[in-house]
Amino acid sequence: QKAKWAKLVNEPTVSKDGQHVELAANIGTPKDLEGVRNNGGEGVGLYRTEFLYMGRDELPTEEEQYEAYKAVLEGMEGKPVVVRTLDIGGDKELPYLNLPKEMNPFLGYRAIRLCLDEQDIFRTQLRALLKASPYGNLKIMFPMISNLQEFREAKAILEEEKKALQENGIDVADKIEVGIMVEIPSTAVMADVFAKEVDFFSIGTNDLIQYTMAADRMNERVSYLYQPYNPAILRLVKMVIDAAHKEGKWAGMCGEMAGDEIAVPILLGLGLDEFSMSATSILRARSQIHRLNKSDMKKLAEEVLQLDTNDEVIKAVEKAVSND
Ligand code: PEP
Ligand code: MG
Repeated sequence: QKAKWAKLVNEPTVSKDGQHVELAANIGTPKDLEGVRNNGGEGVGLYRTEFLYMGRDELPTEEEQYEAYKAVLEGMEGKPVVVRTLDIGGDKELPYLNLPKEMNPFLGYRAIRLCLDEQDIFRTQLRALLKASPYGNLKIMFPMISNLQEFREAKAILEEEKKALQENGIDVADKIEVGIMVEIPSTAVMADVFAKEVDFFSIGTNDLIQYTMAADRMNERVSYLYQPYNPAILRLVKMVIDAAHKEGKWAGMCGEMAGDEIAVPILLGLGLDEFSMSATSILRARSQIHRLNKSDMKKLAEEVLQLDTNDEVIKAVEKAVSND
């Protein structure tokens, strides 16, 4: 099996009926790039920049961040690299920020909420990204967006920093796509409105599932409610993909679900453009997609959206893909 997959490292990801999708990797540091190359990643769909900030006593400087972003952009040699701005809070703490303890950290002061409030932290990161942008194909993504106002503010700050750099004669790439993670149900529901203003969506199912089902992704006692294939989740995913396509934008997914064997056939059928997963899942997913007809998966997706439960969806997918 492994040897068979290894042959797929330099192959494009096309379905049996010739439809291309992009298989990208989730990374946490520039060191992860080797794994991306060895596993044939067509891009980086999620660079979790939190690790630059974690395991230390103070914020990383602009220069340190610039070096890391530049290394990733250069290492990917012009392939797309989606960098997510700081997503701290919830399960990811930064002790040196001395933030007060909260009753509900997952619903609290985190990610873009913190960045729009502590703007020095945010602006430093954005400047580092903008300065690194000429070295590759950078796309910037904001996490935990819950309403349009947040996106507009974040984008305006990015534009301000870009203008200031350019006025100082610093080179910045002309075209940097700016998108959002869709990981809060309000944003999935409003995807048609967001799609007019963002360049792309990346669906963060790890959080989208927990917020939609109201089941903490870390809590074993409610893990039975953490249901990726619940039609409620699948319908939200469909809304996001359709909304993007209606405006000529692309939609990806960077939660665990993107590399999941049961989810991949449904996501292919729903028209997902980019699947971002841990590098070690890429070849398995590519091999799976090679064996699937996108037109058949479109019918399967329509069918499962009308089912009642998570388990029914699993059974329907297993039945549909069992004969290959
Ligand atoms: C997600 O929420 O799906 C996601 C990819 O982000 P993280 O797991 O870092 O919260
Ligand atoms: Mg998340």
